[in-house]
Amino acid sequence: MRDTINVKNPATGETVKEVSVTSSSHIKKAIEQGNEAFKTWSKVNAHQRSALLKEWSAKIKSETEYLAEVMTLESGKPLKESRGEVAYAASYIDWYAEEAKRVYGRTIPSHTESKRIIVTKEPVGLVAAITPWNFPAAMMTRKAAPALAVGCTFIVKPAEETPLTTMKLVSLAHEAGIPEDVVQCVNGYGEDIGPIFTDSPLVRKITFTGSTPVGKLLMKNSAATMKHVSMELGGHAPLIVAKDADIDFAVNQVLASKFRNAGQTCICANRVLVHEDIAKVFSEQLISRVAQLNVGNGLDESTDVGPVINAAGYEKIDSQIEDAVGKGARVLYGHQYDKDEEKGYYFVHPTVLENVGEEMDIMQEETFGPVIPLSTFRENDQAVEIANNTPFGLAAYFFTNDYRNGIYFQEHLKFGILGWNDGAPSAAHAPFGGMKESGIGREGGPEGIEPYVETKYLSIGGIQ
Ligand code: NAP
Repeated sequence: MRDTINVKNPATGETVKEVSVTSSSHIKKAIEQGNEAFKTWSKVNAHQRSALLKEWSAKIKSETEYLAEVMTLESGKPLKESRGEVAYAASYIDWYAEEAKRVYGRTIPSHTESKRIIVTKEPVGLVAAITPWNFPAAMMTRKAAPALAVGCTFIVKPAEETPLTTMKLVSLAHEAGIPEDVVQCVNGYGEDIGPIFTDSPLVRKITFTGSTPVGKLLMKNSAATMKHVSMELGGHAPLIVAKDADIDFAVNQVLASKFRNAGQTCICANRVLVHEDIAKVFSEQLISRVAQLNVGNGLDESTDVGPVINAAGYEKIDSQIEDAVGKGARVLYGHQYDKDEEKGYYFVHPTVLENVGEEMDIMQEETFGPVIPLSTFRENDQAVEIANNTPFGLAAYFFTNDYRNGIYFQEHLKFGILGWNDGAPSAAHAPFGGMKESGIGREGGPEGIEPYVETKYLSIGGIQ
């Protein structure tokens, strides 16, 4: 195991902080402590757990500026988006603080007078979470909040690029009165820590947000001890603009979906399919709006698009653009980089490609960058066929003011999250998650509680 993590600012390549890697013996100790703490935390009554969660959320909100700056420094996202993520992260805690009081069981009418049938819900036990760099606050709280709410204990391993935001969130939880062994953070590299989590029989659940290959590996490794798993994995979202759509509105929503976090979000529009009759007008309006976006250091309040996270992220984006252009796509706007490989920063300017076909990599894989590939369709079923032609099934969007088109898309798109005239569908009170290779389970809403509870059935006999 390496000893330290050098957390770098993606906008400058400079070191933000050196963070110590948690030794494997300390991680094993943390697992034992988390397991021990479960015995008491699971017995704390739901109203007390709710109050502690509310206190944690209040502390996070009062530290918004500090957390937002740390998040921007380590992830590169614009400060205004970091502030938004702090609020979004806290909203999960607020929501699950309420839901803690509503983890209901049920009684079932018996088939005989001498029996009673009762169903209760119990926390699964110690939960280990592994989170990605693109939303270092929200991806943690939407796992921690339901877990703690129902009485589970929790250990998180944040991404090596962005441990600082998560470490601060955990220390705020302790300041709020949540015991130290109930919520813990360990730092290090996924390939080292993943097996410690999955091998331990004390860890009863693995919850992961990240790439599909790592999710598959974690699921496989969780099988030996039959752990519960929740997987929030990669996406490849289609965005369909029907002939009757409000073009101006759709353009605004494409911008909001695509350029948030420099296109490094799992649900951002990755393939834009426009009805051929409106394609020209749509692309002209799109380009005029894209040209207004400011690219720069996220600490600058006027920045709309920050750097991409690292060299590997930049190389994937560049190779997808080169592949598309080599196969006949045209660059309508952008295809410009500001980078310094020695210093280690990479800015990709918003780019729009047209004449994009399914044979191109950009139509087959997640881009994770500020690139819009435009493609056209004639009939709705053709758009749906292209949209569904992917192993991923996280989010899809469609823009239409005709309810028949809308219902058709709603019924035929194979994705867990749909936005109908809505490019930003996420909310703490709604179930977020994917179909197919985009994952298993949901986060948010009442569905987000289910992965953290076991169902226990009691049959009482011998009643006179
Ligand atoms: P990643 O490489 O899978 O990393 C995510 C986390 O997994 C990091 O903490 C990483 O740790 C850890 N990890 C890496 N290799 C591991 C291994 N062998 N065993 C255990 N853990 C391991 O994904 P990423 O590139 O950082 O994140 C982007 C991906 O996340 C995209 O595919 C995106 O779509 C997806 N995502 C999905 C959602 C959703 O809700 N569905 C939300 C956000 C992002 P280290 O980096 O420290 O090694």
